[in-house]
Amino acid sequence: MDKRIVLLPGDGIGQEVMKGACQVLNAVAERYNHSFSFDTQKIGGEAIDSEGTPLPEETVAACHNADAVLLGAVGGPQWDQNPPHLRPEKGLLGIRKELGLFANLRPVKGFKNLLDASPLKEEVVENSDLLIVRELTGGLYFGEPSGRSADGETVVDTLAYSRSEIERIVEKAFESAQVRHKRLTSVDKANVLASSQLWREVVEEKKASYPDVSVEHMLVDAAAMKLITQPGYFDVIVTENMFGDILSDEASVLTGSLGMLPSASVRADGVGLYEPVHGSAPDIAGHNKANPLAMILSAAMMLKHSFDMNEEAQEVETAVREVVEAGYHTSDLDVKDGVSIGTTEMTKKVVEHISSQDATHNIMRCYA
Ligand code: NAD
Repeated sequence: MDKRIVLLPGDGIGQEVMKGACQVLNAVAERYNHSFSFDTQKIGGEAIDSEGTPLPEETVAACHNADAVLLGAVGGPQWDQNPPHLRPEKGLLGIRKELGLFANLRPVKGFKNLLDASPLKEEVVENSDLLIVRELTGGLYFGEPSGRSADGETVVDTLAYSRSEIERIVEKAFESAQVRHKRLTSVDKANVLASSQLWREVVEEKKASYPDVSVEHMLVDAAAMKLITQPGYFDVIVTENMFGDILSDEASVLTGSLGMLPSASVRADGVGLYEPVHGSAPDIAGHNKANPLAMILSAAMMLKHSFDMNEEAQEVETAVREVVEAGYHTSDLDVKDGVSIGTTEMTKKVVEHISSQDATHNIMRCYA
């Protein structure tokens, strides 16, 4: 199967972790006889420096013609003082909007031997395995009117949603719950916000079409507390843009490292943009210290969601899990046991696992 993938490595460690994802995809292609073609384009700070814009037209055109897009990270201190239209994150927000990617999927699952890297007690996080489905193109971040009055003394932001915008994200969440543990928590603020009341109405209407999924509604403040007191309670959480932004960052600390968390932004026809949750980490960029696993797991999400390659995606996830469980980790993880290795070595371990037919025998347990 021939698939066209646009690579947007971006800035800082984005470049390093993208190399890792490509090596892993090449190993998958070889093992399963697929053909992936890669087209590298610019975004973010490097695009500002060379093209004068964070999102060049050529990048947008290439993404429109691709089957999927992989993105590393954007940003860095050298662009922090730029005017708003020349900020690296403009490129990221712009490409998500250009492609109409309305659903952001963030899985959070702990790794057994990394649990002591979590700021929470091991017994609280050990059964965490949840997916946050966040609406990505509506709500407060895009509502009009928005801005400051001429005298600078009044501000307004608008939280607007149409019924159809809510329907499509709720459907995506029900579908995601169907292939997981069939429990959906819809998070809102329906005791206060009109937008949340319509959100609740839509969830109630849609549930008849997914009788195998159990649904509950939870207020966002209660959900924020439960996420850290009892994360194992959740299966799939669906929520609007800003609540999802905050809850998904809260959930990202459960597992102890940003460097382990993938994400996907997708639309209904399967086209998607896949990126690690972390940023460009300028403090470690260029030192072979970046954890490539979030990027590699993002590539696995691409195989599953955009290419329907479930077995291949599972293979990558298993490789990552077994390498980590064999005791290897990058230096961002503050764990008691095991061996700390660099970006390229970690990538190599995952690639070797995928390439070997009988992988489990090829990973030496480093703390046996
Ligand atoms: P960050 O995620 O880049 O880094 C936070 C901390 O986590 C740093 O200490 C970093 O070294 C560490 N870290 C992050 N990813 C890691 C990995 N894969 N392996 C090892 N350690 C890792 O967040 P920040 O420092 O707040 O932001 C740095 C830059 O990244 C800023 O310019 C910011 O705007 C940008 N940013 C981009 C995105 C994105 O592209 N999606 C997301 C967040 C931040």
